[in-house]
Amino acid sequence: MKTEFTSKRAPIYADVPDEKWNNWRWQLSHRLNSVEEIEKVLTLTDSERKALSAQGLFRVDITPYYISLINPNDPNDPIRKQVIPTDLEMVPFTAMMEDSLAEDKHSPVPGLVHRYPDRVLMLVTTQCATYCRYCTRSRIVGDPTATFSQTEFEMQIEYLKRTPQVRDVLLSGGDPLVLAPKILEKILKALSEIPHIEVIRIGSRVPVFLPMRVTEELTDMLQKYHPLWINIHVNHPNEISAELADATDKLSKAGIPLGNQSVLMAGVNDCVHTQRALVQKLVQIRVRPYYLYQCDLVEGAGHFRTPVAKGIEIIEGLRGHTSGYAVPQYIIDAPGGGGKIPLQPNYLLSYSDHKVVVRNYEGYVTTYEEPTEYTPHDPKTCAYCQNKRPEPGQSGITGLLDGDKMFIKPEGFDTLHERGGIQHRLKDDAKWQPLGIGSGDPDDNS
Ligand SMILES: *Cc1c(COP(=O)(O)O)cnc(C)c1O
Repeated sequence: MKTEFTSKRAPIYADVPDEKWNNWRWQLSHRLNSVEEIEKVLTLTDSERKALSAQGLFRVDITPYYISLINPNDPNDPIRKQVIPTDLEMVPFTAMMEDSLAEDKHSPVPGLVHRYPDRVLMLVTTQCATYCRYCTRSRIVGDPTATFSQTEFEMQIEYLKRTPQVRDVLLSGGDPLVLAPKILEKILKALSEIPHIEVIRIGSRVPVFLPMRVTEELTDMLQKYHPLWINIHVNHPNEISAELADATDKLSKAGIPLGNQSVLMAGVNDCVHTQRALVQKLVQIRVRPYYLYQCDLVEGAGHFRTPVAKGIEIIEGLRGHTSGYAVPQYIIDAPGGGGKIPLQPNYLLSYSDHKVVVRNYEGYVTTYEEPTEYTPHDPKTCAYCQNKRPEPGQSGITGLLDGDKMFIKPEGFDTLHERGGIQHRLKDDAKWQPLGIGSGDPDDNS
């Protein structure tokens, strides 16, 4: 019943003793980043060689472990595409942006992004174990001189202390799990001492790029800061190795719930069948697929972008076809800072008074009769309704449904529609004369 996951090592590493290979410090200090080093593992294409020799391109660094997962004979290998640059990175595209999620605009203090009512994103380092070619934060990530200072860390903690609406802190970067263990623990400890912070999350690709970093010493430290959740980042079934399975096993045994975030990418995982294999393997290593992201409009990533329809097609091929908990949410992280927006195929076909028409994944169309009488719960006696957490300025559509407000207006709406007001005022004015061609207004009897 159990799938065996395999271990791989590129031939040049055949003689490396296991103690070194399985040591994360050895892996980090033997990362590959130049044409000469990478050519010892695989033959580069002209396009790759050109990009690796170019000035000013986003940082390259690949652990020996991760580069060993690439099939050296396949120029279209899905792992190769994620970490080895090509000259397509230099091609600009329409709508390309440096900070497409407008994170810098949402930062009350450097490194802290407060976009949502109850949670924040805290960028704790600019360093990663290996660099993804499509990095959404390539504007800051990889630059060793652009890391966060002690003063900035203190400002982040101060902000969180005086912002009681924040109950969930998501550590990201860069990759929080490449921080020196003492520094990571200092951050976790400081957060866990803030009374209103209920949960800490870490977003990390270390289990994928450097699974040997997940040592017992690390999990012993992490489990002191429960409730702690971790999202890893796997894009293709070929990344699920024996080493990754071992790392997620250790994290799960430390009581850390694991999720996965993937990015939908042309030529990497834009295939229903690849995605099905991916989510099913993730569940086997006790990782629940969380989000599948549409590729951001970030500089250098244009060649990875797919139509949105591809994402919908993938969800269509997962929902109903496989376990519900293996189906991620497909998300567009809205350009300009609109945040995460979920998309899915339409299952609601039509509705009338008390009846909805729905379809399932097989195309079976059915109706659901709604009750003709419905006695809803009484908000006046509901403790949760009576003690709603305020979401200043962000109650959104729920705020409309709750009756907190009646409408949401686009910026400049009132000023724009002043014109109507001006016209009516003019109409009342005796001096106003129609031009004789009717205004099109049915109330206009002039
Ligand atoms: C993604 C993100 C979060 C977390 O979002 P969830 O949907 O709760 O996982 C929080 N803040 C920012 C700025 C984000 O981009």
